[in-house]
Amino acid sequence: MSNKIYILNFKSLIFKFLNFLSALLLFCFSAYSQSSPIVILHTNDTHSTLESYNEPGVGDVGGVLRRHTFIQQTRNQYPNTFVVDAGDFSQGTPYFNLFQGVPEIELMNMLGYDVVALGNHEFDNGSKALAKRLKLANFKIVCANYKFKNSKLSKLVKPYAVFNIAGTKIGFFGLLCDMKRVVMPNYYQEVTFLDPIISAQKTVEILKNKEKCDIIICLSHLGFDAEFPDDIPDKILAEKVSGIDFIIGGHTHKLIEEPVIVNDTKIVQAGKRGIYMGKILIINY
Ligand SMILES: [Zn+2]
Repeated sequence: MSNKIYILNFKSLIFKFLNFLSALLLFCFSAYSQSSPIVILHTNDTHSTLESYNEPGVGDVGGVLRRHTFIQQTRNQYPNTFVVDAGDFSQGTPYFNLFQGVPEIELMNMLGYDVVALGNHEFDNGSKALAKRLKLANFKIVCANYKFKNSKLSKLVKPYAVFNIAGTKIGFFGLLCDMKRVVMPNYYQEVTFLDPIISAQKTVEILKNKEKCDIIICLSHLGFDAEFPDDIPDKILAEKVSGIDFIIGGHTHKLIEEPVIVNDTKIVQAGKRGIYMGKILIINY
C-alpha cells in the first residue's frame, strides 16, 4: 500500500467553525477504488481544557462542546470517521487538580474517541492513579515503547490497536517520549522506557505482516523537534522507520498546517489545548 500513496491536495485548509479551527489534510491512497473516505480527526495536548477560553488576539476558542459539534458534523458527512489523540489530555486546568483526570476520560468517551496515545502528563499522579482512571475509558490506549510495572496499567495499555473499517485495516500504534526528565522520579521507577525506533520497527512489522494492515498510523508523543540532544523526535522516527503512513504527533504543541513529509511518512500535529482539531481525509484507499 505505501508505494501507492500520493497526495491529492497537498495544501491543507483551515476551517473556522465558531472559532474552532481545523486543518484538513487530504490524501489519496490509490486511484481506482470507489470506497467512501476514511476520516481521522486528531487532537493532542488538550491539557484538561474542557471549557472554551479566551486566546489573546483570537477570541473565544476550543472547548469540548465545540469539539463535539465538529465531530458530529464530520461523522454525519463521513460515517467512516475515527477520533484519536496523541497524548497529554491530562493536566493544565483546575479540573485536573480537583477531579484527578476523571472528567477528561469521561468526556473523551462521550466524544467517541477511538484510540489514544499516552503523554507524559498522564503520569503526573503516578501509574496507579492513571490505571484507575484509564479503566473508565471506552477507547483503546496504545503505547509500544514502555514496559509498565503496574500490572493493571500493562493490561489496559497495548502496543497497538487494529480497526477493520469497510474491509480496510487500519493499525494505530503509540510512542511516548523518555519521561525521565519530565515526570517525578518516584513515578518514573514504575516504567521502563524502550527505544522508540526499535519499538516502532517491531510494531510496524507486526502491523504489516501479521495483522495485514492497509494503513499504519503512529500516535506519537515524542515531539516534532528534539528537546534534548538524545531525543528521538517524529522527524527522526520517520527517517529511520519505513512503512508508517502518518505520524500524528504531540508533546511539542506545534500546529502543522501542511504535513511535513519525511521518507513517505506524513507528519502532522494540531497545536494545543483543543483550539484545533486536525482532519485527515483518506480517499480512494
Ligand atoms: Zn507532553
